[in-house]
Amino acid sequence: MTFDVVTLFPAMFAGPLLDSMLARARRAGRVSVRIHDLRRWGVGPHRQVDDTPYGGGGGMVLRPEPLYDAVDSIRRRHPSPAERVVLLSPQGTRLGHASAQRLAGYDRLVLLCGRYEGVDERVREGLADEELSIGDAVLTGGELPALVVIDAVSRFVPGVLGRAGAALEDSFADGRLDSPYYTRPAEFRGRCVPEVLLSGDHQAIARWRARKALEATRTKRPDLLEEGGS
Ligand code: SAH
Repeated sequence: MTFDVVTLFPAMFAGPLLDSMLARARRAGRVSVRIHDLRRWGVGPHRQVDDTPYGGGGGMVLRPEPLYDAVDSIRRRHPSPAERVVLLSPQGTRLGHASAQRLAGYDRLVLLCGRYEGVDERVREGLADEELSIGDAVLTGGELPALVVIDAVSRFVPGVLGRAGAALEDSFADGRLDSPYYTRPAEFRGRCVPEVLLSGDHQAIARWRARKALEATRTKRPDLLEEGGS
């Protein structure tokens, strides 16, 4: 699976992509991430990518031409049979378990990162297949959201997680939160690991985990149970 990210701030991606799971997934060839500097497609000798909003009000808005040209150029250089162009935006549908899994079904995602006051509306109208938000808080740019999407979607790409199926056992997969975890030491500052986890009785452990997962969901996210899943 390939992610083509279009951004004004390519340097923001180095750290997260060079570490841990994402770095491993890229080395193993499961996931590839290409970062494209929007400035390359800037307009005129100054490679302008933004301008003031029509109607006034201050701030800057990303112009449409550089984003359209960036996507055209990516398509020409790297044709992809099944791609999806995603505009990161606080006004989009909220990223969740189901949408992360769905997006992992594409061969390529083009992630468009906005900045400043946002992106000329014609990008949403004519270029993006969908508008995606990572939650109801406004960030200063689409770069961190794009990284969140890359991370969440990559977990569903086969071979990315060490344990096959792990993504389907975590929180939200079956409309519930995950159960709590404990590791060594068995007693820490007076708090003991639940007996059953030390018992070696796998059926009892599975029952305990199911019960605890339900308890956690009821107390922390009752809305998940009301929705009846995902
Ligand atoms: N004026 C816009 C916000 C612009 S924030 C509004 O109020 O709707 C600048 C850019 O950051 C956006 O274009 C988008 O790409 C990104 N961004 C900010 N918050 C985001 C969020 N919650 N999810 C996804 N992208 C976000």
